[in-house]
Amino acid sequence: MNFAYTPEQEALRQQVRDFIAKEFTPAVYAEMEEHNEGRPYHRTAIDTPHFSAFFKKIADRGWVGISYPKEYGGQGGDRISQYIVEEEFYRINISISLGGSGAPAIMAAGTEEQKRHFIPQLITGEIMFAQGFTEPRGGADLASLQCRAIREGDEYVINGQKIYTSNAESATHIYLMARTNRDVPKHEGISIFLIPMNTPGITIRPLWTIQNNPRPPQTTTYGHARTNETYYDNVRVHKSTLLGEENKGWRVGSMGLNLDRVGAARYLISVRRDEDIVNYVKSTRDMGDYCPANDEAIRDKIAELWTEAQVCRLMTMRSMSIVERGGKFTYEGSAEKVWSPEHGVRTTEAITQMLGSYGQLLNGSKHAVRSGLFAHNVMGAFQSGINHGSVQVMRDQVARRGLEMPRARRG
Ligand SMILES: Cc1cc2nc3c(=O)[nH]c(=O)nc-3n(C[C@H](O)[C@H](O)[C@H](O)COP(=O)(O)OP(=O)(O)OC[C@H]3O[C@@H](n4cnc5c(N)ncnc54)[C@H](O)[C@@H]3O)c2cc1C
Repeated sequence: MNFAYTPEQEALRQQVRDFIAKEFTPAVYAEMEEHNEGRPYHRTAIDTPHFSAFFKKIADRGWVGISYPKEYGGQGGDRISQYIVEEEFYRINISISLGGSGAPAIMAAGTEEQKRHFIPQLITGEIMFAQGFTEPRGGADLASLQCRAIREGDEYVINGQKIYTSNAESATHIYLMARTNRDVPKHEGISIFLIPMNTPGITIRPLWTIQNNPRPPQTTTYGHARTNETYYDNVRVHKSTLLGEENKGWRVGSMGLNLDRVGAARYLISVRRDEDIVNYVKSTRDMGDYCPANDEAIRDKIAELWTEAQVCRLMTMRSMSIVERGGKFTYEGSAEKVWSPEHGVRTTEAITQMLGSYGQLLNGSKHAVRSGLFAHNVMGAFQSGINHGSVQVMRDQVARRGLEMPRARRG
């Protein structure tokens, strides 16, 4: 087994670093700072000419969606190369990943027409999906969703409410899960629709999270400042918006969610928090009488967390390797989704203990360390254990799909 990158992959990483050194100008950074919401900057930024031009240069080089087939706007390249490029951009807080974009599910279940329409535009950033899965009655038990889609001729009429529809305010489309049959077991009556966000009948209301006040520093690893409630009131869509077969949306949705978890972002969300701590502690080496960099307990903890971070990386590599080889990918993404966010929580707990009460000061406070970066990361870390599938639910999937244990008895 060889864990090293090939010379071509190393050269690609250097190429990306050189590009960033030259093109990631203060003007792009300033624009990101101005629109910062405390999470990696996404490709469809609103009204950001410098960032948009920068992103276009990235896309023009073929660096977004490298592993997607050429006929759909990708490069037909390998997953590891894609990972390398995503990693370099994520380190400057830019997400170019197609994970979470709906692209994996469209590739797997979409019609030829849907693939040709959506994938190239997802790659260039002209299309961006928000994900409309969770409902107010509960997200962990997703299959009990109530939002209805009723077929009328060539159309479906959709009514219902979703909650935590992140990015709905800037997305061009919604990737919506709705119930198309009530008379069958709950997993079997669900369908997925790919709907333009500006379709009449869709209303978006903001839902602010604890991340937002005060505004976190640019370097904050992850955290939705804003998510949304979305309402669907007699929304009429053509039957061609259906992704996959009617009533087979559960399989498509879970497979898509699982594939969305593969890639650099999942690994870096928590590992960057870890790296920020290492860098901070190293920077204290000349602090005088007490210097965290020389504290043995801190050094031990940092080494332990670094080791955990390497596990995150290896899990990511394994997932990518399975997907690349077309292998059966069932529980691996879930395992990663347990380990990585919980590692993130452990890192933020560690820095909070190191900094004592200073670790609680948010951006704007006179005594905040690194503009409150660590305090903001604490909140983001806990959120990562819930969004995109909670760690409890992920554990259940590992037990059932990975270890073939029976479904747990309730009550
Ligand atoms: C910031 C943020 C952004 C999000 N963005 C999106 C988005 O863009 N689109 C979208 O559709 N959803 C989104 N979500 C929703 C997210 O997927 C859900 O919050 C998550 O699935 C949990 O659902 P819930 O919040 O309704 O909690 P509940 O389902 O009420 O669960 C509460 C707690 O109980 C645990 N629990 C529930 N059932 C079980 C069980 N059977 N066994 C063990 N433990 C259990 C859960 O793990 C959780 O910890 C987002 C959530 C957050 C916080």
